[in-house]
Amino acid sequence: MSVTNHFSATYSKARAKFLETCGSLGLAVEHHIHPELGREGEELATDVARFGPEDADRVLFTMSATHGVEGFCGSGAQIGALRSGLYDNLPDGMAAVLIHAINPYGFSWLRRVTHENVDLNRNHLDHAAPYPVNQGYEHLRGAICPQEWTAQAQTAARATLDAYAEEHDTMALQGAISGGQYSHAEGLFFGGHDTTWSARTMHDVVAKHAAGARHAGLIDYHTGLGPYGYGELISDHLLDDPGHDRLVAWLGEADVTNTDDGSSASAPLTGVNSLGIARAAPHASLTMVTPEFGTSPVDQVLDSLRADCWLHNHGELDSDQGRAIKAEIRRCFYPDADDWKAMVFERTSVTERKMIAGLAAQA
Ligand SMILES: [Zn+2]
Repeated sequence: MSVTNHFSATYSKARAKFLETCGSLGLAVEHHIHPELGREGEELATDVARFGPEDADRVLFTMSATHGVEGFCGSGAQIGALRSGLYDNLPDGMAAVLIHAINPYGFSWLRRVTHENVDLNRNHLDHAAPYPVNQGYEHLRGAICPQEWTAQAQTAARATLDAYAEEHDTMALQGAISGGQYSHAEGLFFGGHDTTWSARTMHDVVAKHAAGARHAGLIDYHTGLGPYGYGELISDHLLDDPGHDRLVAWLGEADVTNTDDGSSASAPLTGVNSLGIARAAPHASLTMVTPEFGTSPVDQVLDSLRADCWLHNHGELDSDQGRAIKAEIRRCFYPDADDWKAMVFERTSVTERKMIAGLAAQA
């Protein structure tokens, strides 16, 4: 079967393909039903399939659609892994758990955020404690999310952002926009003031499936940063965390990057998934990687998010402009091209095999 066939054109098609593939392998699937409906009126769910024994003491998790619209990539990787028999001969004592569409709402509605307008990968912090302040975002919020999205308004906002990058640097601008913020619920990269449905679901799934594990590995598939088709392997650990050393040993020093030392295409972030995963399985060692597949230049990607934020706050989804904005955000997170899909699947297959081997070698 062609690699491109692992990927799907919509959330509902991806879900059907995942369930059908699991069914053909005789796998039971857990359905975590989302409270809202999708863009086609379809049911939304996070679906979870597990290979391997109930009492496995090491578990590899793979997860798609943390950032909704990025789910085309992760779903294709997961379906491809199932179809290519990647988990058919797992080492003794190991299980593989596939979490399909942890943010099904964003996947279906072509949004990066959850239905609460929250960036799931900024949502895992203590909501009773004071939130970190993103000074850059505070300074630029009028330009990041302008009230108008006319050509004139876009040009003016772009000039403000460019001036900030000129005064600081481009990574400072990227951090201001994407690092995470907790003060503007209608804005971009909002981390939320409460635990989202997707964060609770993630916690429940990991807590259940890692209950007997001494070692957990997790691959959280993302898109939108870096060169087209390249899969940067971003460590989800601080540089001095043993999880980072394990990741380097398993995946190769040349391939693993870290936002801690500036080697990553990502800016440093707050409230990320790894914090939630670690809380869900505190008894297990965690080794976690975020593969980040490049699509388009970062300014186009960020502009597509700014336009989408404007659309959902001020625009009409069912209009020519609304449809154009949706087509652009989809393109910026899912190029939908055969060469890109082939590059993604090659990288995800190899990365999953390395993670399985690394987990197997743990004492
Ligand atoms: Zn992402």
